[in-house]
Amino acid sequence: MTRRCPTPGKIAYETREQADKVVNASLAMSLRMRAYPCPCGAYHLTSKQGAGSPRVCGYGPCERLFSPIDGARYCSRAHARKAHEKRRLARRKEESAWRKTG
Ligand SMILES: [Zn+2]
Ligand SMILES: [Zn+2]
Repeated sequence: MTRRCPTPGKIAYETREQADKVVNASLAMSLRMRAYPCPCGAYHLTSKQGAGSPRVCGYGPCERLFSPIDGARYCSRAHARKAHEKRRLARRKEESAWRKTG
């Protein structure tokens, strides 16, 4: 079963082997590429650009720098959870305010 590809602009490789071959070639050129399976059933490549350059934690009061892995936005799992919780509370507040006016 194949689903619609969320990144149709990317080259699709039918097998992991094909994708890995390109990854190996890119490593030789010191490009940081990685193959990943797509819901569409094919394999795509993603460049890990920016990984390694430190980033500030996305959780409000925390200003810790960390190295993002796979697009992580928070310095720790605990802060990811807290930020998530904060967003949910804000949304709930918004919803109840909406209900009052409506
Ligand atoms: Zn795809
Ligand atoms: Zn943090």
